[in-house]
Amino acid sequence: MVRAMSKSGTADLIVLGAGIVGVSAAYAASERGLSVILVDRREPGGETSYGNAGVLSSGSIVPFNKPSLFPALPRYLSNRHAALRWDPLWAARNAGWLLRFLANATPSNVKPRAMALHGLIGASLALHRQWLVKAGASARLRETGWLKAWRSDATDAARAEQALLAEYGIESEIVDRQAISALEPGIVPAYTIGLLHTQTASVDSPGEVTAAYARMFAGSGGEIVKAEIGAIAPEAGGWRVRLASGTISARHVVVALGPWSADLLRPLGYRVPLAFERGYHQEFRPHPARSLRRPIHDADGAFVMTPMQNGIRITTGVELTARDAPSSLAQLEAVVPLARGVAEFGEASSPVWRGARPTLPDSLPIIGRAPRHAGLWLAFGHQHIGFTTGPATGAAIAAMLAARSPSFDVAAFSPGRYL
Ligand SMILES: Cc1cc2nc3c(=O)[nH]c(=O)nc-3n(C[C@H](O)[C@H](O)[C@H](O)COP(=O)(O)OP(=O)(O)OC[C@H]3O[C@@H](n4cnc5c(N)ncnc54)[C@H](O)[C@@H]3O)c2cc1C
Repeated sequence: MVRAMSKSGTADLIVLGAGIVGVSAAYAASERGLSVILVDRREPGGETSYGNAGVLSSGSIVPFNKPSLFPALPRYLSNRHAALRWDPLWAARNAGWLLRFLANATPSNVKPRAMALHGLIGASLALHRQWLVKAGASARLRETGWLKAWRSDATDAARAEQALLAEYGIESEIVDRQAISALEPGIVPAYTIGLLHTQTASVDSPGEVTAAYARMFAGSGGEIVKAEIGAIAPEAGGWRVRLASGTISARHVVVALGPWSADLLRPLGYRVPLAFERGYHQEFRPHPARSLRRPIHDADGAFVMTPMQNGIRITTGVELTARDAPSSLAQLEAVVPLARGVAEFGEASSPVWRGARPTLPDSLPIIGRAPRHAGLWLAFGHQHIGFTTGPATGAAIAAMLAARSPSFDVAAFSPGRYL
């Protein structure tokens, strides 16, 4: 049950933020026997963890800042490509962040980051598959893969991606126009070539999955508090958390506030280089006889369309700007007609949603203890793959809290690399 104020007021651990990362940390810690209070101003899974494309991606091991970004830059600089829009004023103010982001896109930076993300993703997919069953939400899981598809003849690009994934033991299949039609009989044959990520899964409502994990946490004795978080401060033996509804305290605190994480840490002297790869979605009534079977990433069109509980969700590429800048519908307006050219669907069934992928310059999340404060744990910055990687992030934090080793190598995610 979600309350406005904590019943107990104290716990072993307070988790700040009930997105997929915070909910996962809270559940994993309560599984280890800790008393846990989970706090959010919204219902669990109401923000970024609600609006994503629901892809549980085995293959997203090479982030957006990769070597192929450089040849694409001239197209992106025009500020007309649906894959990337950017705000010149924001870019001027954040030139340092952009340079660090680009510095990570060099060939020598691919392998270490891919290795690190592969470990995190592998551990997380295993947990999602277990937790979906435990949470009674397994019906939301689709083991139908993820199709990346090109309108152009991108056979070389598809082969190169397949070869890279194979280096990490990730399976995929190259599919031609005919094979794509067999996989997705409801769409028109617009794609020349595709790469089917066979070990990738998806869910039909990421928000509901996060909420189901939160119910599982509450069912294991955890407490959920719905309140605005004002500040955190160290006190003897732990941490005090100021909420709009009062103060609570615990020995340990986890900051899992997604795109809002840096705000709360600034007064403690941590300047987190967090930027926001904003994205939009809108849902549309599906055609009853021509539904999609899996998420499709239209590589040339720069959008993803996913069959969801409430219709076909179309998600956009990246908009680099301030987290709270006014919405721009340019990318969504560019891609919806492209999607309509491939799949048949009806009127919009949801308002436009906007979210912010929280991203650090190396596109790796921060997972671990804050360098200068005992009992303060950080878990944020999961960019495009936070819904996939939330569970193992939470499990790693819970393991480290209990002085145990996480099930994957967390060295690359150390907070010390930036703080
Ligand atoms: C368009 C788009 C598509 C995406 N598609 C995918 C995908 O297919 N697969 C994938 O793996 N990832 C995807 N992602 C990325 C993924 O959604 C995020 O990385 C992930 O949801 C981040 O989770 P989180 O728990 O860190 O943050 P959030 O889900 O944002 O949770 C943070 C929580 O903190 C709370 N909060 C913040 N400040 C306060 C405060 N002061 N007081 C109280 N509460 C507060 C918020 O209410 C929120 O609930 C996508 C993202 C976008 C934008």
